[in-house]
Order: sequence, then C-alpha cells, then structure tokens
Amino acid sequence: MTVRVRFAPSPTGHLHIGGIRTALFNYLYAKHHHGQFILRFEDTDLERNMPGAEEEILEGFRWLGFTWDEGPDVGGEHGPYRCTERLEIYQQYADKLRAEGRIYPCFCTPEELEAEREQAQREGRMPRYSGKCRHLSEAERAAKLAEGRVPNWRFAIPAHQEIAFHDLIRGDVQFHTDDMGDFVVVKSNGIPTYNFQVVIDDALMGITHVIRGEEHLSNTPRQLLIFRALGWDEPQFAHLPQVLNTDRKKLSKRDPNVMPVAAYREKGYPPEAIVNFLALLGWSPGGEEEIMSLEEIAERFDLDRVSRSGAVFDADKLRWMAGQYIKRMPLATLVESVSHQLQAHGISIPAGRDEHWLDHVVSLYQEQMSCAEEFVSLARRFFTPDVTWSDEATAVLREPGASAVVARYLDLAKADSEWTADASRARFKTIQQELGVKGRQLYMPVRAAVTGEVHGPDLQLSIACLSKDWVLRRLQAALQRAAE
Ligand code: GLU
Repeated sequence: MTVRVRFAPSPTGHLHIGGIRTALFNYLYAKHHHGQFILRFEDTDLERNMPGAEEEILEGFRWLGFTWDEGPDVGGEHGPYRCTERLEIYQQYADKLRAEGRIYPCFCTPEELEAEREQAQREGRMPRYSGKCRHLSEAERAAKLAEGRVPNWRFAIPAHQEIAFHDLIRGDVQFHTDDMGDFVVVKSNGIPTYNFQVVIDDALMGITHVIRGEEHLSNTPRQLLIFRALGWDEPQFAHLPQVLNTDRKKLSKRDPNVMPVAAYREKGYPPEAIVNFLALLGWSPGGEEEIMSLEEIAERFDLDRVSRSGAVFDADKLRWMAGQYIKRMPLATLVESVSHQLQAHGISIPAGRDEHWLDHVVSLYQEQMSCAEEFVSLARRFFTPDVTWSDEATAVLREPGASAVVARYLDLAKADSEWTADASRARFKTIQQELGVKGRQLYMPVRAAVTGEVHGPDLQLSIACLSKDWVLRRLQAALQRAAE
C-alpha cells in the first residue's frame, strides 16, 4: 500500500504554527514511507474564506521547503484540489444518501435550534439536535417544501452503536452514537459541511492516513459513520497533540510569542530552523541530537514517537534553534538576508565603505542573531556617525583614569595612517606601557566611548569596521560627555 496523506487547510486566515506542524507531520510521514503528500484547500466555509490566504499558504510552504505531490497548483489525478470546485461530486453522494434515506431534510430555524440548545443547557444535558425533523412524514415534508422552506440535510445517526477506532497516536478510542445528534451534511445553500465533504475527498483521493490536530478527534466518529454509510474503506487516523503555551494552555493565535509563518519569513528566520523546531513539537527523535535537516528528520520520523500529551511551544527554544542555524549559515547567505532587512528598514551602507564591509560587520554578530532582522538593532552603531551612551557606558567614561585612556587613544588614532584591528591593538599596547593600565581599565573606556555600550563584539574588529573619522568624532564627543 502506498501511503497517501493530506494537509487540508481552510483558507480562512494566516498560516500559523499549529497548521504548519500538522502539515509537516503529514509531509514527514509521507516521506518516511515513500508515500505521497497531497494539499487540498477546504474552502467551503464561504463567509470565512480570506482573500490571499491560499497564496500565503502556498508561499509559506515553499519557503519552508515542503513539496507536495498533488495540489491546487500542481494538479494531480485526483483533482480538483479545491473543495468549492468539487460541489458536483458532493452533490452526487448526497443524492445517494438521500435516496437511501440516510439523510433527511431539517426545517428547524436557527431560532428553534438555539432554543433547543438553551433548554438542554438549563437541564444540564449536552446540547445536541433532538431529531425533531427526522420523523416528519412525507406529507409534512412536502408541505414545508411547498411553503418555500429550504432545508438543511442531516445525517440520520443509527441508535445505540459504539463507534470505535484505533488512533495511531492515542490508541483505542470509543464514541457512542447515543451521545451524538444528527448532524448537518448539506446546508440549505447546497454547500456540504466539513464532516461530509472531508470524507468524500479523503475517500476519492485515496487517503490512507488522516493525520490532523486533536481538535478534530470528536469529528472522527461522524466521519466514520459517513464512510460506512457510503460503503467505503476507512483510512487510519492519527490525532496530533495540541500545541500549548508555556502555561500549558492551548496556544492561541494571538499569543505574542507566536507569529504567522509570513512574519518569521519577513524577519529573516532561517526556514530550516522553523521546520526543525516544529518537528520537535510533539515528536521526539529518541536521541540527544536536536539539530536535524528535513531529510534527516524524515528518515527518522514515525508516528510511534509522537506523544499523546500536549506539546509546549517555547519561543526561547525557537530563538535558540534559529541561532544555531544562523551560526552554521555561510556568511554570504546571512549577508544577503541582512541586506534585505537593511533595505526594508531604509538603512543604507555608509559612504566610503568597501564592498566587503558589510561581511565584516555581519560576521561580528553572526553568533548572536536568531533572525536577520536582529542585526538592524544589534549593529545600529555601525550605520550612524554618532552614538548615544548608555548609562553604564557613561558611568565607565566617568571612572577615574578613563578620560586619560580615551584621550591617548584619540591622539594615537589621529596620527595612525593604518586603520586595521592590528593597528588598534598596537595603540592599546602603547597606552598600556605609557599609562600602566591594563584589562578592563584599558579597554572598557574606549569600548564605551566608541560604541556607547559596555558589551559588544570584538573591540578591535569593531573599531576597524568603523571608519577613522567616525571613531575620532566619537572619542572626542565621549571626552566631553565624561566631563559633563
Ligand atoms: N479544513 C480542516 C481544518 O483546517 C481540516 C481538518 C482535517 O484535516 O480533516 O482544520
């Protein structure tokens, strides 16, 4: 049997972490088993469809490095892959179930249904459809139709049945039909509901494994009833654990730590890091190693190592992982990504810098970045002639002996015709001999004066990357600041 899995997003909003995780696990399962991965847009909830969402999903996946074997953009033998283009197909199966009396028209108004729900709540019962219209006679139905009322069509759930299935992650799961109300399969506007459409699509597209979020677990018995009513083989199911925040609550799309995938892309996160991080959201490779490429993950991935309990989204871990990928990135790739960020922030390379200048500055920060956008704030002092001094830097400048070091460095720098890290090192050596200061007392005043900060990347390299005139004016200004 060839494994066929699908990711079936509804294009109703941005592509979010939870959705990508589901897509990724499907993709990995397909790759691991040499199967096929299908992308399908479930766009039958017409009011909720968001313009541009399909394109955002496709773009997001392409950026993350996923490919699919069949889908709305690449086609395939089981298309179309957009549900609104399959309405005639659903109609056909609705007709079949209608002819067999397995679905029936329901004329209840939204107000009546709401009243039923409220009553159930008052009586402490689980709200579910009472089945009121199930038992209308043919004559009653005809009369309502004659009044011009357009019904929803509900699936007549068989009474007293246990619906059991083996979930590949959660194990044996049971539901009981007596706990379920007859559910709508085709709405009065002729559009099928998700629970009906998804079964037809999964069956006709030959899906062997349905891997999706846990929130769909309670839909599964309804879908199984439809598979059975249509006489189709059932796929296997695997419901992925919820993604939780660090308080172990369901991760919200509005959580400030989570962004749509497009935002990670805009900020210049390495896509491989996002994929690697998401693969570990609920799956464990069973060893210590956490940094793995998509291919390595696919090789090791299987559902038996997916946990049942919720997977915590730890934004710090994502940043750490992104940093690991940035560290390993070829400098040229990182420089390109940083260049996009500079452009997006309207920052240009200062006049007079040579073509390798940006490479040098980027390499100063490569170890510290988790996304290219961070460079903009980390390295801001390389792009403007002047600095403002932090409180700590000002305090350093005002320490006894600091101004003497800064003043001497200024003199030596002025006279120096060479502007390299080695030349700067030599200046410090001279000052050390002349003034008898070393270590923090020697370097910190100059660092504070030139960068405005007391922490930062290698001082000699930083000075070499800043132009001579900028360094001189900053030293000069720092002497004034110290004296204020
Ligand atoms: N369109 C559904 C969703 O976005 C897909 C559910 C499924 O995979 O069956 O949640």
